Amino acid sequence: MKNYYDILGIAKTATEEDIKSAFRKLAHKYHPDKKGGDEKKFKEASEAYAVLSNKQKRSQYDTYGSAHAGGQGGARGGFGGFDFSDFAQGSANFGGQEFDLGDIFGEFFGGARDGSAGRARGRDISVDIELPFREAIFGTERRMLIAKMSSCWDCEGTGAKKGTKRATCGSCNGKGNIREARNTFFGNFTTTRTCPRCQGRGQVPEHECNTCKGQGVAKREEEVHVVIPAGVLDGEMIRMPGRGEATSGGIAGDLYVKLHIKADKTFAREGHNLLTVLHLKLTDALLGGEFKIETLDGGVSVSVPQGVAHGELLRVRERGVPYGRGSRGDLLVRVDIQFPKKLSRKANELVAELRKEGL
Ligand SMILES: [Zn+2]
Ligand SMILES: [Zn+2]
Repeated sequence: MKNYYDILGIAKTATEEDIKSAFRKLAHKYHPDKKGGDEKKFKEASEAYAVLSNKQKRSQYDTYGSAHAGGQGGARGGFGGFDFSDFAQGSANFGGQEFDLGDIFGEFFGGARDGSAGRARGRDISVDIELPFREAIFGTERRMLIAKMSSCWDCEGTGAKKGTKRATCGSCNGKGNIREARNTFFGNFTTTRTCPRCQGRGQVPEHECNTCKGQGVAKREEEVHVVIPAGVLDGEMIRMPGRGEATSGGIAGDLYVKLHIKADKTFAREGHNLLTVLHLKLTDALLGGEFKIETLDGGVSVSVPQGVAHGELLRVRERGVPYGRGSRGDLLVRVDIQFPKKLSRKANELVAELRKEGL
């Protein structure tokens, strides 16, 4: 009786992730297409994985020592019907039940499951933008020049010299991809890959474009217009699909714009609210009154109640960060009462008077 847990080198309590990662390691180690691979061990590991990665089979195996349900006294040995040729399709059929090996076998068969998935994609690009605090609050825009592979401006990406025709690609007969037979211990199967000559277009230029040498893409500085919405956060990333590098015959990658927001001397941010400080003289705090403060929308006057406490927060509504549709957070004003370090003789006398008042 084979012990599947031992084969994968995991404990009986292993999680689904443990099982997958154990199998992945062994599969890489023993894969027969690899140097030093071991077909027997690979099959053994695959069988163990097939059972333990399936909840139902695993519980049957744990209970009966076999993945066959209802086997009285333990079914013998029972995985003879394992059809390895199905592995090439990224799934295997066992006892009428399919299980998916897609993400693991995708590594070995490189897109063999789906020919269209193999379409080339240009590189993603990431750029950094430093923003002043205020621009991050209200939103802004930037125009940047980025040197990158772009769709050829001369031939509009066709690769053919202007006014010339294109002919069917001889390598793939216009299909855009090439099928190749592979012979492995799984059996024979075919893989499909993008035609390297026409890069999947199915056509090749009769006369190549001079600018891109028929590639349809060429490097140049391109102006990118980035719109930065109001209220973005430090470290936030804006993704611009298709604005990364173009690639011959494929789709363009994405552009990622990472935002770095500079701190402000007057304001700090807390969610949708802004924080600022109002420095008050002791007498102003005692008497209260109207005081002018800066907001991001210009100066406003706040009324400070008599006897305001040090550290108290005053709220100026809707002078914070814009969000949603037309909503705005508040500006919170923290009161900082500046107590005098030293009193003049006269001030001392006056405070002594205050004391007599019971203050
Ligand atoms: Zn061109
Ligand atoms: Zn071709």
